[in-house]
Amino acid sequence: MEGTMKCVVKTEPSRDNLHLWEKPIPKPGRGEVLIKVRLAAICGTDVHIKDWEPFAAERLNPPVTIGHEFCGEIVEIGKDVDPARVGQLVSAESHVVCGHCALCKAGLANVCLNTTCIGLHFDGAFAEYVVIPDENAITCNPDIPDEVNALLEPLGVAVHAASKVELAGKTVAIVGCGPIGLMAVAVAKKMGASKVIAVETNEYRAATALKMGADVAVNPLKENTTESVRNATDGLGPEIILEFSGSKPAIIEETKYIRKGGSIVVVGLPPGEISLNFENIFYSGVNMYGISGRELYRTWNIMKGLLDAGMDIKECISDVLPLEDFEKGFDLIKSGKALKVLLKP
Ligand SMILES: [Zn+2]
Ligand SMILES: [Zn+2]
Repeated sequence: MEGTMKCVVKTEPSRDNLHLWEKPIPKPGRGEVLIKVRLAAICGTDVHIKDWEPFAAERLNPPVTIGHEFCGEIVEIGKDVDPARVGQLVSAESHVVCGHCALCKAGLANVCLNTTCIGLHFDGAFAEYVVIPDENAITCNPDIPDEVNALLEPLGVAVHAASKVELAGKTVAIVGCGPIGLMAVAVAKKMGASKVIAVETNEYRAATALKMGADVAVNPLKENTTESVRNATDGLGPEIILEFSGSKPAIIEETKYIRKGGSIVVVGLPPGEISLNFENIFYSGVNMYGISGRELYRTWNIMKGLLDAGMDIKECISDVLPLEDFEKGFDLIKSGKALKVLLKP
């Protein structure tokens, strides 16, 4: 495809420096597809890139078009791609994996040793068009709203966490109800959790968690979390904790109120090191699991099933803005007054 397109580019290796640029529409190479982006979502990672935190500075080499959560239509294909893909509505697995390292071969491609990411190592989806590997373009159900199909990548993190352990019939505390924690509330309910307790300090997010199916909301700023969570679980503590807050004090407290023999699934990344009393963990028969990305492609299959079964996550979307207004989107997220913010090229 000829012509130029609008895109949001991290232009310099320092704070801010996100600019709307005009670039040539990229060409799909061998094994790649060109996608016309319908909607893209701002992720916490994009905020880290904007703020030029170490995570971003170690990986991104400007200028790079950012954005990795999106849906769109395949409009052109490179060599060795099935022509039937043209016209398909797709979302993207943002992790591009090598397929031949020891971990990929062991079925652990979500922690591939050679992972690169859309919108971080190479140009991403805050643009009118994006090129990605054919294998990363996952076909979407066109009957599901674009707003939801644009969120399959972060939803996949919630589904991966929730499918790490058996949730059916169990009491589940979801700690940290940012967009992914909120999605996890919907996932846990759909998977049959007997009670979902949302632990969240931001009242707007807590209220959304209740709308999305949480049975109880606990505010650690206003009440004793351990006491309130225990009260909601017959005094025993929840059987499962899905941790999305990345808050050190929150994680330390989780290891105290988790039920003996329970499981803590950790997604939230606390800054730096954290000291935990192992008596609360291994001596109590508690399991802790770490989550990275989505299992390829088991998580995608479970997610598809949950959406086909009517799971709804639209409540976690607060704003849809034109791509040009991306700065406003980032400001809204920083203010704590937004949930998921979508950009429309
Ligand atoms: Zn993301
Ligand atoms: Zn690999």
